Amino acid sequence: MSYEGKMLGQLKMPARTEVEEALLIALFRHNGVIKEFGSDEEIVIEIADSFGLNQEQRAAYLETVYRKENRVKKSLLWHRLLFRAADSLAKERMVSRPTQTLSLTNNREWMLTEHGFDKALRLSNIPVAKKDSLSTKSFEVQRIVKELNETPRLANYNPFDRSKKTSKITKETTLRKRGFRQAVIEAYNYKCAVCGMKIYAPDTLSWEVEAAHIVPHRAMGKDDICNGMALCRLHHWAFDIGWFTLLDSYKVEVSSQAGSLPADFGKIGEYKFLKSLSAHSSKIFLPSRNEIYPHHNSISWHRQNIFHQ
Ligand SMILES: [Zn+2]
Repeated sequence: MSYEGKMLGQLKMPARTEVEEALLIALFRHNGVIKEFGSDEEIVIEIADSFGLNQEQRAAYLETVYRKENRVKKSLLWHRLLFRAADSLAKERMVSRPTQTLSLTNNREWMLTEHGFDKALRLSNIPVAKKDSLSTKSFEVQRIVKELNETPRLANYNPFDRSKKTSKITKETTLRKRGFRQAVIEAYNYKCAVCGMKIYAPDTLSWEVEAAHIVPHRAMGKDDICNGMALCRLHHWAFDIGWFTLLDSYKVEVSSQAGSLPADFGKIGEYKFLKSLSAHSSKIFLPSRNEIYPHHNSISWHRQNIFHQ
């Protein structure tokens, strides 16, 4: 048995497969990404805590003698065990390596792949069908997010994707859907573009805000950031149904029908939901880069086809 193997046994350290599972769960809990392991990092301590490691187990180190350089390198046994578990997960394509993730996010981090995401869900007893509503990052989805962010903005942008097959659901279309959703809600910093509502679930795994299509999916609207907008559920519904639209100046325009509603309609307690929209004389909250602002070709289509004047 190797020196390292002997130490792991003597100190009764957890088995590598157990560490792999704990790592997948930790990745899931941390939005799908964790930084490279360094000492005193939250994640290293968190996983050690999950195993209830004692001080001796956390502090034990290995000494490797480099004869050529005539020096001894010390490394923490727990870090090596974590690294080996992550390395083995990368070989099984459950996570992407920091060098691979770097090209997507500019950060050296381990990221879940779709395969690893599925396994993390199973280990956390969460149905895989819930994936669509979670904001957990995965390598494959993040690749789409990057692509969407880098799509050049065209003046003569066509918001329709005629090849969109509305009925056929493939693995590619579900990834694309999640990529669109992630890219849009990230662009709007998880806030509703109209009211600024920003809230996540108590377990922090999902956000209330939704990625709305401006030219909707059913009209073959493209899954591009500039054909989308982050909206809370109430504003998403009101936008899709035509209660309000956007002007080219990005100001909100409310349907004249709002004026003829019964007095007790469109109210949340004393808050007048529709009236407050028409009082909205300022612009909606926009992303930080104007290349991904809602496109005028999309919003003018919405004004003409969805909005009830
Ligand atoms: Zn809202």
